[in-house]
Amino acid sequence: MLDTLGRPLGALRISLTDRCNLRCRYCMPEAEYAWLPRRDLLSFDEIVRITEAFVALGVDRVRLTGGEPLLRAGAAGLVRRLAALPGVADLAMTTNGVLLARHAAELRAAGLRRFSVSLDTLRPERFQALSQRATHPDVLAGIAAAAATGLRGMKIDTVVLRGFNDDEIGDLLEFGRTVPAEVRFIEYMDVGGATGWTPALVVPRAEILATLTSRYGPITALDRTGSAPAERFALPDGTVFGIVSSTTQPFCASCDRSRLTADGMWLRCLYAITGTDLRTPLRAGAGPDALRELIAQTWRQRADRGAVDRLGARSPGTVFVSAASLRRDPHLEMHTRGG
Ligand code: SAM
Ligand code: SF4
Repeated sequence: MLDTLGRPLGALRISLTDRCNLRCRYCMPEAEYAWLPRRDLLSFDEIVRITEAFVALGVDRVRLTGGEPLLRAGAAGLVRRLAALPGVADLAMTTNGVLLARHAAELRAAGLRRFSVSLDTLRPERFQALSQRATHPDVLAGIAAAAATGLRGMKIDTVVLRGFNDDEIGDLLEFGRTVPAEVRFIEYMDVGGATGWTPALVVPRAEILATLTSRYGPITALDRTGSAPAERFALPDGTVFGIVSSTTQPFCASCDRSRLTADGMWLRCLYAITGTDLRTPLRAGAGPDALRELIAQTWRQRADRGAVDRLGARSPGTVFVSAASLRRDPHLEMHTRGG
């Protein structure tokens, strides 16, 4: 099943909650937030039913995210149910790692296939300045616990911010080697929630590569794997890392991802302003066929190229969504739609 630009429905990111135990300044910079009403959050039964519909239409990669997914009680129980669905080839979680030491082993036992842990700095004082919490040691313990499960393919996701952590790019790679985990450097995006975004804070892919080349020598670009958002590279010694350059080099042409918010709003693009409400029909009694039909029809009409459009429309100093709009509609928030 293809959208209007010939892109299949391949990956689904499911936000388990919009709540978070950090306040990263690139994601949640405001003092107050409008939270999703708890009664609106999808139950695990509802998430499983929706996921079944997506899998029947071609989705084979599922990622649990948020907000902080590990704040959702019983997340491992959901992992067990999703891992048991025939057709789910890859089941991953993106977490800030704060609660991971407690949950890593049970997540693996439940059938999670891969961990991605966000880590922007190796320095506790910088972590506290960025996230407004003092839980850097917990994140490092979470990464160690995830590595101790023996699951392969761990990723460390680092948003690179000029003047904040761009001097740690090489050190983070070194840290990744010790875990072991593949580090992915992410360009700062002006998605909803990033109300402090300015072009000056973005460290482009070319600059990340130049920094690493001057430290390690010539870098080799690896073949791109399918629709993966990261371009992958190798250092002269073979260490592999990734760069997600959605701000300066959008990859909308191959994007097969869509997102489900914790209250059942289906977004076909990270930059989408509106979505499709799947919760209301589900709670009104829509069966599997009706749900599949709604998703299929919507996907076939998809023409979103949010990052490409944003690159063309961006004028210096403007943010994508204002703080006032975010207060009116929490679905515009990065922590609500799931990164
Ligand atoms: N709380 C979890 C975490 O931090 O890993 C999962 C949700 S978080 C929204 C998912 C990813 O989005 C994180 O790696 C985070 O660094 C990234 N992110 C958030 N805001 C961003 C922004 N403005 N630009 C680029 N990446 C961003
Ligand atoms: Fe930070 Fe993730 Fe929480 Fe956003 S959702 S504030 S990126 S930990």
